[in-house]
Amino acid sequence: MTFLTKALQKTGPDAPFKVVTIERRSPRADDVVIAIRAAGICHSDIHTIRNEWGQAHFPLTVGHEIAGVVTEVGPAVTKFAVGDRVGVGCMVNACGHCEQCEAGQEQDCLNGNVGTYDSIDVDGTVTQGGYAQHVVVNENFVCSLPDDLDFDHAAPLLCAGITTYSPLKRWGIKAGDKVAVVGLGGLGHMGVQIAAALGAEVTVLSRSLAKADEAKGLGAVDTLATTEAVFFVTHRGTFDFILSTISAPYDVDAYLGLLKPHGVMSVVGLPPDAMPVSMAALILGGKVLTGSNIGGIAQTQEMLDFCAAHGIGAVIEKIPVDQVDDAYDRVVAGDVNFRFVIDISTFDR
Ligand code: NDP
Ligand code: ZN
Repeated sequence: MTFLTKALQKTGPDAPFKVVTIERRSPRADDVVIAIRAAGICHSDIHTIRNEWGQAHFPLTVGHEIAGVVTEVGPAVTKFAVGDRVGVGCMVNACGHCEQCEAGQEQDCLNGNVGTYDSIDVDGTVTQGGYAQHVVVNENFVCSLPDDLDFDHAAPLLCAGITTYSPLKRWGIKAGDKVAVVGLGGLGHMGVQIAAALGAEVTVLSRSLAKADEAKGLGAVDTLATTEAVFFVTHRGTFDFILSTISAPYDVDAYLGLLKPHGVMSVVGLPPDAMPVSMAALILGGKVLTGSNIGGIAQTQEMLDFCAAHGIGAVIEKIPVDQVDDAYDRVVAGDVNFRFVIDISTFDR
């Protein structure tokens, strides 16, 4: 059994987005149906649907920063009721019984979790994401939105928020730590706010100083332009922790040089191509180079509550459904402060 909902769909990497009607499954016993109010545009949506990470399954609807209201619940649902304000991020299912799932790390499920879009669901269908009026999700992959977070400012937290919160928590970032956030885009602007709320002394490393005022407003003490001639020499050995959100290839060794001895560089930006790392850049100074993949569901809820408690939300530019193609080009050009959010009500305009 299925029902129909409007969605933005692409039939191939070069095709424009079109409003179409797609099928959603009728809720299973443990599903909730969500009327989506806002959907953020993550650079991962762009990498995926432009085939930069490999062949996507077309026709495809992307979107994994979803905020909305529960409109229906399956008979076995215990966590949510009709009318609840909720969010869904990058995952909609996982095995639930491997050691990673049991540890609350569903993003690293040993049996492979089900992504919110472009993923093969348990019934064999390809999942379709949140640039749509409705989505149907297992209740264990739905989070509650705190009252203080409105839909538009909350939606980007479901990916950009948890992806930056999780490594900052894993590496114990605390008051006084010198943290560099590299790339002031959707993820970066959340990383700055969260690291600052944890008490860190945050410096933004950007390609220019164009966003320095905004960075300060987000809680950064300084912004430095990495394109300055001697930047990587001048700032050698400065930071305890670097969070890299860069979406394109870059010189990893150069950034490792900015760490203090025993410092940690956590990479969340996922450029399509492999990048070389010299072992010397790690060995000399005993540095740690690590990655991080979103975060588990319990930690996503913790992050939402943390953001509400600290008055943190995404800084957004709201767009109607017919401007998503333009928005993609602007994200790639670095021309967004700092996250586009699709106004889902404009499907009915
Ligand atoms: P954005 O495009 O919003 O931000 C990326 C930032 O990277 C830009 O704002 C820019 O910062 C910087 N940048 C872009 N190109 C270059 C370049 N050639 N050299 C140096 N810096 C550059 O993207 P998002 O924040 O949405 O996503 C960032 C990356 O993180 C993507 O690759 C995405 O797929 C990935 N991602 C990973 C997740 C995970 O779980 N690990 C989850 C979500 C996303 P500035 O203008 O300040 O220089
Ligand atoms: Zn994302």
